Amino acid sequence: MNDKTPLEILNNYFGYKGFQGKQEQIIKHILSGNNALVLMPTGGGKSICYQIPALMQGGVTIVISPLISLMQDQVANLKQLGINAEYIASNISYAEINNKLNLLTANAVKLLYITPERATSRIFINYIKSIKVNLFAIDEAHCISHWGYDFRPDYQQLKFLINEFPQIPRIALTATADHYTKVDIKHFLNLTDADFFTSSFLRENFIYRVSEKNNGKQQLLEFIKQHKHQSGIIYCKSRSRVDEITTFLQQNAINAMPYHAGLELSIREQHHRSFLQLNNSLMVATIAFGLGIDKPDVRFVYHFDMPRSIDHFYQEAGRAGRDGMVAESVINFGFKEVLDTCQFIMQSEQSELKKKYELVKLKQILTYCDTEQCRRQTLLELLGEASEVCGKCDNCLNPPVLYDATALVQKILSTIYHVGQKFNSGHIVDILRGKLSLNVQIWEHHKLSTFGLCNDVSSKELRRTIRQLFARNIINIEYASGKLKLTDKAIPIIRGISDMFLPQLNKKVKFVYDREIWLRTEFEERLYRKVLFWRHKIAIINNIPNYAVLSDKTIYELIKYKPLNQDELLDIYGIGKVKLKKYGTEILE
Ligand code: ADP
Ligand code: ZN
Repeated sequence: MNDKTPLEILNNYFGYKGFQGKQEQIIKHILSGNNALVLMPTGGGKSICYQIPALMQGGVTIVISPLISLMQDQVANLKQLGINAEYIASNISYAEINNKLNLLTANAVKLLYITPERATSRIFINYIKSIKVNLFAIDEAHCISHWGYDFRPDYQQLKFLINEFPQIPRIALTATADHYTKVDIKHFLNLTDADFFTSSFLRENFIYRVSEKNNGKQQLLEFIKQHKHQSGIIYCKSRSRVDEITTFLQQNAINAMPYHAGLELSIREQHHRSFLQLNNSLMVATIAFGLGIDKPDVRFVYHFDMPRSIDHFYQEAGRAGRDGMVAESVINFGFKEVLDTCQFIMQSEQSELKKKYELVKLKQILTYCDTEQCRRQTLLELLGEASEVCGKCDNCLNPPVLYDATALVQKILSTIYHVGQKFNSGHIVDILRGKLSLNVQIWEHHKLSTFGLCNDVSSKELRRTIRQLFARNIINIEYASGKLKLTDKAIPIIRGISDMFLPQLNKKVKFVYDREIWLRTEFEERLYRKVLFWRHKIAIINNIPNYAVLSDKTIYELIKYKPLNQDELLDIYGIGKVKLKKYGTEILE
């Protein structure tokens, strides 16, 4: 290797002009033989933190990765850049594995990707004693912790590998790590003394939006019609919901693929492949479609159902916009889902501590959905980070109108109080609306002073207000039973000491972004189509995803700057020496 500095490698191989965030610091730290724990949001550029050290040292870097598809993509990408990378997984024949190991022994591999199961097998551990390993990189390190939802027990076995080679430096990387997850990563990978590198969770290219569910399918359809020619993921809470939504979209002439654990593996893999390969593919999925979506040009993530926690949300929405181009996150939410999820957590078989933890996280996602403040600021605050308002989320662009809800809220709160805080929201709504339900009669709640006091307010509106009060910690819900309780914050409102202003239902926000908005002239439009067509052709010929040929951002810069010679081409994002040699002439043509 003739390249001298990390920066030169970044320029020559990856085609990027400079490091972002703490990449350089981390690389130097690793090159000095230290251990590191890296917490960086998706798209932050974690891979380069171990790929560059791998290229600068003798021997091989072993990368632990949870999924075959992830490894395949990374290796295909690296090979495109002229880097010797290989992977070993169960889909590879014995003979092929032997071939790869021979390459490894001959010192012809810079990065070896492998699953934790294989990395911790006795055979493999013995094998690597015979070669020079310069670094262990543990990708998606949060899989080690049962607090996260990608928990993979075999990740915990990695401690045996680490213990066997304590002198080999290691770097653990993840995009999600709350306090408990971090503790687990440090513990299992023996990283207690390692330096911890954390980056901001701010994603500049994101537009966050939330809408209240009101004929959810129609809302989704409208959204998709406004996002033609874009790739996106639509997350649903269950398999049956995925099937239902996929069918619905297909009936409306929209090409969408389903993905959930109930589908045959071969179908899942096929859908995953097409999703990666195409520019405008829609995946309707449960969270089983998670790890391994290494597609840079996902333009939106649409949560048809409410995510299970603020961390789930951050992780899932984060799958959009890895290429740094504008990406949208939408949650279409309803209160019932929150209550259902509460029940689901309460009835699940886990420790009381974990349940409590999940309920707190669930409440946080409701806070995010129900806020009238800037979404991005609220999200980051919930993740423990202070930031400015974003200026482009739905609330920033179209601030919700507040109305004086004091009288209505007083009626709700005093009803809850008068029934002894022993009833759920359905019952409270019945009383306020003056409905003589069986329960109302049994408990003689039609004799209450608030009975029928809100018969001019729809039950939908009442439920919405109850939800808002819950999100604002004015009432609490006893999770197992759904009983509504008052908190300390309710007292001044009941007594008439403080007012209560709540946001009205927000009217629809027009979607502000269109992917092709940056095409300024007809010439650019034609050029763009041509480049897309060419990219797709090359991708098919080489059997690699489109983005492995050129990323969207590279295309964007090509059209914008219209390089005329090889030197100018090298200035374009994502074009290094290898890509220049491979495609330079064709691109210039
Ligand atoms: P993560 O694993 O943190 O989600 P990746 O390593 O996949 O992120 O990087 C996300 C994208 O950013 C990739 O397309 C990557 O090539 C690109 N990238 C990484 N580092 C840089 C950099 N210094 N300058 C420009 N782009 C970068
Ligand atoms: Zn905002």
